[in-house]
Amino acid sequence: MSAIANQLNTIRQRIAKAARVAGRSENAVSLLAVSKTFSAEMIRAAYAAGQSSFGENYMQEALEKIKALADLRGQLEWHFIGPLQSNKTKSAATHFDWVHSVDRLKIAQRLSEQRPIHLPPLNICLQVNLSGEASKSGASAADAVSLAHALAILPRLKLRGLMTIPAPTDTLDAQRLAYRKVSELFATLRNDGLALDTLSAGMSADLEAAILEDATLVRIGSAIFGTRVRD
Ligand SMILES: *Cc1c(COP(=O)(O)O)cnc(C)c1O
Repeated sequence: MSAIANQLNTIRQRIAKAARVAGRSENAVSLLAVSKTFSAEMIRAAYAAGQSSFGENYMQEALEKIKALADLRGQLEWHFIGPLQSNKTKSAATHFDWVHSVDRLKIAQRLSEQRPIHLPPLNICLQVNLSGEASKSGASAADAVSLAHALAILPRLKLRGLMTIPAPTDTLDAQRLAYRKVSELFATLRNDGLALDTLSAGMSADLEAAILEDATLVRIGSAIFGTRVRD
């Protein structure tokens, strides 16, 4: 078995165990393999091991890999998870199935206008930053509710849920606390009538905490592909 296949197995077991501990079905948590900085050939190896959803952060790098893997078009699902500037929305709308990092109405409007008509609506998550760190991207707690309702009605987008990247912390309790705030907001929005099914939360170091707080999609990079030489 390839190293990537081994590491994918280990991650799938971690997800299944965390779901069991949380009293949830392991099918309730999907795995996004974050392939930023790793090669198209490594993505191919992960695909051969049964992984079909991949997350990328940098548009130019992502487009090169999507092109290199064009023979698998229709088999792979591409998720854009990095910061998204206005000049990249056209590429995101054209080449991706999902964008997790929508945190402003203007970006969402551009994605909706630029989503090609022959493709289904673009799946998006509203990225939130509930810890109030000014340096991080993501909508604040104060803005998130009205923004979610505004995104939900854009015609060529499908608002699937929330995404968050909390500041790294060491203990399970601290990790859970950060994820719980987002999980509570997710529940509030669903109670408000938004048909959301995706809570994109949890990375290599804290997926257990995220799953305990109801994450439905974990974004895992280094635990599958190895240590990144750059971020
Ligand atoms: C890099 C990245 C990940 C994966 O992080 P790992 O610690 O390598 O699992 C997840 N989400 C986002 C938004 C990232 O940029």
